[in-house]
Amino acid sequence: MIKKLIPLLFLLSTSPAWAQLVILQYHHVDDSTPAATSISPAKFAEHLQLLEDEGMQVVDLADAMTRIQAGDALPEKAVAITFDDAYRSVYTQAWPLLKARKWPFTVFVNPAFVDQKYSSIMTWDELKELQDAGNVVANHSMHHNYLIERPNGVSVDEWMTMEVGEAERRLEDELGTSHRMLAYPYGEFNLEMIDWLKAHNYLAFGQHSGPVAKISHMQAIPRFPAAGVYANPETLRTKLYTMPFAIGPEQLQQPVLADANMPALTLAIPLQDFYPSQVQCFASSEGAIATEKTQEKTENGELLKVSTQAARPMPGGRSRYNCTAPSKAHKGWYYWYSQLWINQSVKKR
Ligand SMILES: [Zn+2]
Repeated sequence: MIKKLIPLLFLLSTSPAWAQLVILQYHHVDDSTPAATSISPAKFAEHLQLLEDEGMQVVDLADAMTRIQAGDALPEKAVAITFDDAYRSVYTQAWPLLKARKWPFTVFVNPAFVDQKYSSIMTWDELKELQDAGNVVANHSMHHNYLIERPNGVSVDEWMTMEVGEAERRLEDELGTSHRMLAYPYGEFNLEMIDWLKAHNYLAFGQHSGPVAKISHMQAIPRFPAAGVYANPETLRTKLYTMPFAIGPEQLQQPVLADANMPALTLAIPLQDFYPSQVQCFASSEGAIATEKTQEKTENGELLKVSTQAARPMPGGRSRYNCTAPSKAHKGWYYWYSQLWINQSVKKR
């Protein structure tokens, strides 16, 4: 019995499909809104067709995250679709296309803007209608501030209570639900926000790209931006076939940089289903970067230490390092891990 179990467990632990999730992030689905955060309805329809053609299983994000945390299985090739900011075009353009396929999605909203009746943003009635139809409405903070820029004299607890706790309360008042899922405005976070969110039982989603599994940091959950420069279906397709490296939450580094220099990232990755020689890291600002690898034997097996650093300083705003390697066992799949960096020298970023 034991002998039979061991190969089975090994198989489960290296499977790309059963307990991992790729999350796509959109904003506007509209021809007339800013290109950087928009996808046209026609291109969005192409994305949905791509998901269908590739046999992806579109799942409910809240349910999938509950399963991932519990260690339960997900459908093979699970993908979740999310929209930040609750633009009206999600209601008018995206929803009909998603409804036709019976695919659920999640909208992250800033309650203050709904309360102020911004014409570009859905009303509470519209959000309720989406929710009643089986979709999730969750927290994008109260006012869409740069949350890492906490005002002087305001404690972390006061700031997060105002911006996140208060938004969650408004969602509960208006919609009767509290999923405790936050999408960080601009995908920006720091370690002190993470501590607060963890202590208050929130899951929190960024925009730093990568797939999600139980080992992922639950307050730095990556999503793949899929609009603007990322809307190309070919590059999107690559991201659908990604698996998380076995890199635990303790390896997350403070994203907010003290200066614009080149941050050094060191990762320790159990050596499993990839060749060390094929691990390569990239900086969003310059492409492939120096990636040093050393193997180490530990009592839990072999570990690959990866040290990587860009050649040039980080530009103002948000950057990231991505490290990837092809899977040996699953042809066409890639392991993927991303670290966010924020150079705050740019105010509007
Ligand atoms: Zn947003």
